[in-house]
Amino acid sequence: MRAEIISVGTELLLGQIVDTNAAYLAQRLAEVGIDVYFKQTVGDNSPRVQDAVQLAISRADVILITGGLGPTEDDLTVAAVATALSLDLVRDEAVVDHIRRFFETRGRTPSGNVYKQALIPRGARVIPNERGTAPGIHLEDRGRMFFLMPGVPYEMKGMMEHYVLPALRHRMGSTVIRSRVLRITGEGESAVEERIKDLLRQTEPTIAPYAKLGEVHLRLTAKGPPEQVDAALARGEAQLRERLGDLIYGVDDQTLEDVVAKVLTTKHLTLAVAESCTGGTISSRLTNIPGSSAYFLEGVVAYSNEAKVRDVGVDPTLLATRGAVSPEVAEAMAGAIRRRCGAEVGLGVTGIAGPTGGTPDKPVGLVYLGLDDSRGAMHRRLMFGAEAGREGIRVLAAQAALNLLRLHVARG
Ligand code: ATP
Ligand code: MG
Repeated sequence: MRAEIISVGTELLLGQIVDTNAAYLAQRLAEVGIDVYFKQTVGDNSPRVQDAVQLAISRADVILITGGLGPTEDDLTVAAVATALSLDLVRDEAVVDHIRRFFETRGRTPSGNVYKQALIPRGARVIPNERGTAPGIHLEDRGRMFFLMPGVPYEMKGMMEHYVLPALRHRMGSTVIRSRVLRITGEGESAVEERIKDLLRQTEPTIAPYAKLGEVHLRLTAKGPPEQVDAALARGEAQLRERLGDLIYGVDDQTLEDVVAKVLTTKHLTLAVAESCTGGTISSRLTNIPGSSAYFLEGVVAYSNEAKVRDVGVDPTLLATRGAVSPEVAEAMAGAIRRRCGAEVGLGVTGIAGPTGGTPDKPVGLVYLGLDDSRGAMHRRLMFGAEAGREGIRVLAAQAALNLLRLHVARG
């Protein structure tokens, strides 16, 4: 079954409001297994609304229309749809009653116009509006299902939830579309694809990679009866986990900092961070997690050499002999901040984000991560392409540092 969404409202075309209704409807339709092939946006203009309806009839089985159901002059959706389908408008007494009661219970007097909303295309069913006065309309015509709903998101959602989705589910039997996202970091998109190339051709679930900055998402999607869909997603996830192992850090909305927070919390470990080139990004991401005070003790942005000595406690001779961007200084930053704060884990990051400051020995994009815990100190050397840009290098370095924490702490 194919659906088309038509959003009516000149303010949508002017960009004064964002079409959140269409996004909501598309998501809800996907959940019940209905494909949306097209969306249309049209102004408050009868001939153009009629055109939009005709076009939708030519290519969809279910047509959902929101907006323009109210009592004012520019609310012309119902009349336009009736014209497009050559249907008369008839007064629905139950709606007249509903509107009268709606105003009575609120101690308000209805204006004459309000009863315009009781004009319903002949043969249509009224969708009750528990949250407002404009009724929705359900029409079956030319083998198509039409659902007209108010533009007000709160009212539209109420109708979708209580009337439209049940009606569609009934028509569909028990087909659903469900997706799951596996989140990967530590390897680039082409390397990930190389490992799972054969799986990308399969269906049920389909697997589609999406490259993000510093991570790759694999979206698994399956369609069919709910139990079958859940089994297919579980099977797909198991196949990918077998290939990718701990490159997969999370599922769906889980972020890398969520996972690090979880690992630290379950292991009852505290963390202190000394950042240079990442400028506080790591501390910011970790403290975005509610409850971060349980494991995050302190984050220092030690940009200059003096700050690395004074605020972190790095040995100045190390800075002089090895340079700020060196494995020794990364480890020293991690160890010194850890001791200073009495944390179980210390993290240090130092690198060259560019665009200036690179040398042949230490080019832009060179970053050292240092980690210090009860097992001693260790470091990682990272080399990002200068084309990532200053902001990109900072994001990638922070991502790699969080990933190092995740893997190292989990293994400890
Ligand atoms: P009313 O009975 O309130 O007049 P209506 O069905 O006539 O409802 P509109 O007049 O088109 O709906 O829109 C009412 C309000 O709902 C708009 O001002 C806007 O804030 C919101 N709205 C309308 N369409 C959308 C949409 N597609 N996405 C998000 N919000 C919308
Ligand atoms: Mg209106």
